[in-house]
Amino acid sequence: MTTETQHGSVIVMDRRRGKLRAGQGLLQGLRVVWDHWAGSFRKNDNFSKIHGTFTVEYPEERLPMPQAYRNMPVLLFDDESGHELCTGCYQCQRICPPQVIHITQAKDPVTGKMVPAATEFIIEYDACMSCGFCAEVCPFDSIKMDHVYELSTANRASLTMRKAQLNRSISYYTGIAPGLWAEVQAGAMKKLQGSIKRRPDVIGLAASLTEKIKARRLELAAAAAAAPAAAAVSAPAAPAAPAAKLTPEEKAAKLAAMKAANANKGAAPAPAEAPVALSPADAKAAKLAAIKAANANKGAAPAPAEAPVALSPADAKAAKLAAIKAANAAKQAEAAPVSVETAVATAPLDAKAARLAAIKAANAAKLAAEQGNNE
Ligand code: SF4
Ligand code: SF4
Repeated sequence: MTTETQHGSVIVMDRRRGKLRAGQGLLQGLRVVWDHWAGSFRKNDNFSKIHGTFTVEYPEERLPMPQAYRNMPVLLFDDESGHELCTGCYQCQRICPPQVIHITQAKDPVTGKMVPAATEFIIEYDACMSCGFCAEVCPFDSIKMDHVYELSTANRASLTMRKAQLNRSISYYTGIAPGLWAEVQAGAMKKLQGSIKRRPDVIGLAASLTEKIKARRLELAAAAAAAPAAAAVSAPAAPAAPAAKLTPEEKAAKLAAMKAANANKGAAPAPAEAPVALSPADAKAAKLAAIKAANANKGAAPAPAEAPVALSPADAKAAKLAAIKAANAAKQAEAAPVSVETAVATAPLDAKAARLAAIKAANAAKLAAEQGNNE
């Protein structure tokens, strides 16, 4: 029954209507107790009913979480490209009531300009109050509320979560909140493509992927460095121009000379006359090659005509002087042709010998003249 007063409507319950008989109220109370007791043996999977067992055998059994359930914030990255959706815009950091979000904006290593990505993203889970403001305000749908609630630990420091620990794939979030992600998917992916275009190198990739990519790049660089050396060892180098085929001995000598030159590289510059330092084996091989090469040349081609002996200027002058003196002596001994011929035939090349020869020739001529007079 409703009664109107000056302050509004008042509902008045007339408990005397339908008067109970003695003991009837007790029985009605017992019936309510009975219904609840009997219902406790039935499993209630439909939360709209008020009877039944609502508890589960935790932790073996767990109740499904509503999509909008929120526990702790996480950061999403794209499964296909590996790029994080976060652009480091600081919106979540600004709105967080307990100020537990700390972001470092990424920069281009070449130009130093800001890049739409975060190099570090820290959330202090121990002080987060799961309000979900950060997820609400994020314009790139990067930060979402996770459903994991078993976070108790005795180590408080372990609740300071870095980007590598906060990263979750979009497929993971689709698994726990498919309807919520479907609502924002198109816009989020479009914004992500715009961000990716402005991210150089590995900036903006999920932390786990960045480490993998860096490790892979190191492997490839090591393989690329090893490849030319292996090719040089296994494959013979193509000759740049047709060259005479070297004998094994010549090859060994050439190799020994190259090794010696390489060994001396970087050392203090040696004087030009300094002998090249060869190892005993290399020196032996070089010597053997030289001998064999000389033997091979013997008889193969006619030796060149002997070059005229080159006299020094002083010797040439002395020889010329001796010849003149010998000629003069010959003139003086015209009467003794034999002695002149002898003098010419025996004319030495140096001056002293020439003078001696001239004296001898003169004496011979004189002696011949005396013999002629005697006869
Ligand atoms: S859920 Fe609330 S308290 Fe936790 S990080 Fe986000 S904004 Fe801050
Ligand atoms: S999580 Fe969202 S709001 Fe926070 S910095 Fe990244 S893009 Fe901005």
